[in-house]
Amino acid sequence: MAKTHVTPVKGLTIPRLEFPSAVEGLNIALVIGRELEIDLREVTFHTDSQTVLRWIHSRTCRFETFVDNRIGKILRNTNRTQWRHVSGDNNPVDFTTYDPKNVDELVKYHEGPSFLKLDPSEWDTRKEIAELEENDVNVTRVFAVKTEDENLPINDCGRKYSSLLKIQRVVAWCRRFATNARAKMGPCKPTVGELTTEEMSAAFTICIKRTQALTFTEEIYTLKKNWELPLNSSLRIFSPFLDKVGQLHVGGRILQAPVDYSTKHLILLPANQLVTQRIVWEHHTRNLHIKLERLLTELRIRYWIISGRKVIKSVFNTCWPCKRRSSKPIQPLMASLPVHRLTPYLPPFTYTGVDYFGPLTVRVDGRECRHEKR
Ligand SMILES: [Zn+2]
Repeated sequence: MAKTHVTPVKGLTIPRLEFPSAVEGLNIALVIGRELEIDLREVTFHTDSQTVLRWIHSRTCRFETFVDNRIGKILRNTNRTQWRHVSGDNNPVDFTTYDPKNVDELVKYHEGPSFLKLDPSEWDTRKEIAELEENDVNVTRVFAVKTEDENLPINDCGRKYSSLLKIQRVVAWCRRFATNARAKMGPCKPTVGELTTEEMSAAFTICIKRTQALTFTEEIYTLKKNWELPLNSSLRIFSPFLDKVGQLHVGGRILQAPVDYSTKHLILLPANQLVTQRIVWEHHTRNLHIKLERLLTELRIRYWIISGRKVIKSVFNTCWPCKRRSSKPIQPLMASLPVHRLTPYLPPFTYTGVDYFGPLTVRVDGRECRHEKR
C-alpha cells in the first residue's frame, strides 16, 4: 500500500513537508492494523528524515503548533523506539514519485529495502539520533521571567536590621546610589558626602509607603482610581486617603482642629509588618521603656497602627529590660509544718515559742526621743 501527496503551493520548509509523510505512514499502519488485527506496538516505522526523527525523539522541547499536533498524534499511537532511520538509498518511497528506471529499483519498490529480510536485531537502522539544534525554527522558545514585588525588599530590611534608623540609612544609601547612577547619564552632578536630613526623610517615606503597600494593596489601588473602598475593607472606618507622596492617612472630621497636619491625619500602619514593629520599638526605647498605654498615646501623635495594643505587646515580649522590670520574684517553697502545730486536742500553751527574727523598733533617747528599727 502506498500513498502520495502533492506539495502545497504555500511555501513550506523541507522538514515540514517530510513530517506529514510520517503521519501518513502512521495512518496507513492504523488502517492496516485495525483490518488485519495487528498490534500497532509491533510495527516499526522508518523515515529517511533525520529532522523528523529528532522531533519525535525529543523529550525536552516544545514545538510550534504544526509540529506539536503531529508529534502528539504519533506519540499517542506509537512509542518513540518504534521510529527508526533508513538511508535515502534504501528508502523505496521515492519510487512513488517517478517510474523505476530498472528492474532492481522495481524489485526494491515492491519488496522494500533488503535489510528487512534479516532479523530485526541485525538491522543497521539504529543510527544515533542527534539532539535538536538550538536555532531550529520549529522549536518554541519559552522565556520565564521572574518578577518580584518591589515592596518586598523593605520587609527584608526589617528582618535584617532591628533599628529603624539603620533601615532608614540603608534605604537612603540605595536611593542615593540609584540617583547617582541616573545622574551619570544626564547633566546632573552625583551627590557625595554624608546623608542629608532630606534624604533620610525621603527614605522614611519610602519605608512607610512600601510597608503600607504590602498589606493595603487593594485599598491603595482603589484610592488611586478614586473608587469607593470595598465593604469588607478593614480601613473603611478610617475614611483613608492618599497624600501627595502616596502615603495612606486617616481621614476624619478634625480638619479644622488647631493641631499639626500629621496629628490630624495619622499615618496608617499595618500590624503584621516588621517596619511597624521597628517604629514601635524605636518609640519604646526613645521614651525609656514606657508602658503600654503611654506608648500607644505617644505613637498616636503620628501613627495609627491597626491592632496597636497587640503590636505593642509583641514588642514588649522582646524587650529584656521591660521583662526584667515586670517579672515577679519566685515564692520559695515552704518546709512542712512541725508535728506540734498539727497535733489536735491539746490544752493551750502545751507548746510555746517566740519569734525574735526581723528588725525591732527601739526607743532611742537623745536630744529628741525617737524610735528606730534596729
Ligand atoms: Zn522595654
